[in-house]
Amino acid sequence: MHTPVTIIGAGLGGLTLARVLHVHDVSVTVYEAEPSPSARAQGGLLDIHDYNGQLALEAAGLTDEFRAIVLEGRQALRVVDEDGTVLLDQADDGTGGRPEVQRGDLRQVLLDSLPADTVRWGHKVGRTRGLGDGRHEVSFADGSTVVTRLLVGADGAWSRVRPLLSSATPEYTGKSVVETYLYDAGSRHPGAAKTVGGGMLIAPSPGKEIFAHREKDDTLHAYVGLSRPRDWFAAVDFTDAAEATARIAREFDGWAPELTALITDSDVAPVLRSLYALPAGHRWERLPGVTLLGDAAHLSAPNGEGANLAMLDGAELGTAIAAHPEDIERALGEYERAMFPRSAESATDDMIGLDSADNTAQGLIDLVTENGL
Ligand SMILES: Cc1cc2nc3c(=O)[nH]c(=O)nc-3n(C[C@H](O)[C@H](O)[C@H](O)COP(=O)(O)OP(=O)(O)OC[C@H]3O[C@@H](n4cnc5c(N)ncnc54)[C@H](O)[C@@H]3O)c2cc1C
Repeated sequence: MHTPVTIIGAGLGGLTLARVLHVHDVSVTVYEAEPSPSARAQGGLLDIHDYNGQLALEAAGLTDEFRAIVLEGRQALRVVDEDGTVLLDQADDGTGGRPEVQRGDLRQVLLDSLPADTVRWGHKVGRTRGLGDGRHEVSFADGSTVVTRLLVGADGAWSRVRPLLSSATPEYTGKSVVETYLYDAGSRHPGAAKTVGGGMLIAPSPGKEIFAHREKDDTLHAYVGLSRPRDWFAAVDFTDAAEATARIAREFDGWAPELTALITDSDVAPVLRSLYALPAGHRWERLPGVTLLGDAAHLSAPNGEGANLAMLDGAELGTAIAAHPEDIERALGEYERAMFPRSAESATDDMIGLDSADNTAQGLIDLVTENGL
């Protein structure tokens, strides 16, 4: 490779690719829209799986750094009924295959592993176009451009690189989550803290659920899932924290107060996240000089795999490029042949859908017992 690999997006997928290329002495530049690494809070806990995310970190030579940020005890799992009855309470004995880390810590591990000028912050891509001969031009919002022989779209759900390869756009999945945070839970929210326990709590029900994590610094972070059309959420005024909180909590009337406290006792205004997905099995014809990874390639409704898959995509693509530096089309072809079926399978995994009649505490316990979570 005589031109630097150009990656759009410094999420977990793009950074893993950059790191694996760096390990193999392949020159790389990452263009990221956000103005700085700390411009936005990086979200909650991620369980990093031994069959995908951890393999990616191994390829990146960052297993020790990863182990150092694992939050002990957070693999504990508690499943409760709507009335708060605990039906499953699995402790974390440290042997599980999905240790939990804060997303921001993991991103920082990847950033720290790259030369300082690898990521160009404040470079929001507006448009990309083919110039023929495998070259592509990337135009940024500030009017500047770069031309590259290898362009990788790692720019997430609303990728500006994807239109080069596919006309697919994400569609609303019919469900959204509302995020809440309860800080210093042990001292300030003891009831909710006791209910969540040391790791993850899930309270499922057809069409709705409460999912919570005990994060670093004794923070409880809840994802309140609701299966409702976008219009329903549009009618809720999320600029009015009290009204939005009351409206969401009303959907859980009759649930145990220690569960609804995860909504009503939030220390921040509830944050709405509408969930979108690309068609399952999304793929494209090979086009010289460009590919996609992570959510840009296969956005699906959250199923605990998205960040793990993005990292594995990045690691496999980096390894393929390093193995065939003089034959990039071969590298991209090898990467895509493995990535397409892997992501299609993950998107249709036998998770229980939020709307399903089986989305109950017992249904989830049956699934955990049969397959593990
Ligand atoms: C509520 C929720 C919970 C989730 N929980 C989990 C979980 O527990 N486990 C799990 O594995 N996955 C989870 N996911 C999925 C996971 O967040 C994504 O699959 C993962 O972040 C995808 O990584 P990525 O690198 O492909 O994209 P992203 O993380 O989206 O990164 C894309 C990067 O590109 C940048 N960018 C975007 N547009 C541009 C542009 N025009 N120009 C330049 N840069 C741009 C963005 O700023 C960002 O830094 C969850 C998702 C949601 C919504």
